[in-house]
Amino acid sequence: MYIALESLFAGGVNKLPVDCEFDFSEEELDGVFPFTTPVSVKGEIKNVVGVVTVEAEISFTLEVFCDRCAEPVKLDFNIPMVHGLVSELNEDDNDDYILIEDMKLDLLQLTLEDIFLALPSKFLCREDCKGVCTKCGANLNTDSCSCKKDIDPRLEALLGLLED
Ligand SMILES: [Zn+2]
Ligand SMILES: [Zn+2]
Repeated sequence: MYIALESLFAGGVNKLPVDCEFDFSEEELDGVFPFTTPVSVKGEIKNVVGVVTVEAEISFTLEVFCDRCAEPVKLDFNIPMVHGLVSELNEDDNDDYILIEDMKLDLLQLTLEDIFLALPSKFLCREDCKGVCTKCGANLNTDSCSCKKDIDPRLEALLGLLED
């Protein structure tokens, strides 16, 4: 999805609203397709005394699996999209600026890049997810498993004696 920016760079208008929804349902992440609902981008692109910036918020929900307990989890994200836009790169410009070629901003591509940069390396169903028992696979958030904790084999022998 391209947004034409000629008039904004030329100063004919000083603000363009951004209000888009993207379908990223075919984007894969770690073997799943987590974007089951549309991704929204809301904000504006503005020209303030010759400096063009996009300032928007990307909102989306991911349906993924918890990295600790493997339960499915829905996570909501709101991440900022803030970039300076330039129609030509000067030598002292850095990565903070996005070069707009042909006066068109590829908003879909930029949204995708911003999302993947902002995603955490791990998804957790909750901060203190207890994960699964490494012995029986029970989900320790909801089940209490009867596996004995790893105990010293010598202590185990002693406990065996006590049980007799
Ligand atoms: Zn979990
Ligand atoms: Zn267990």
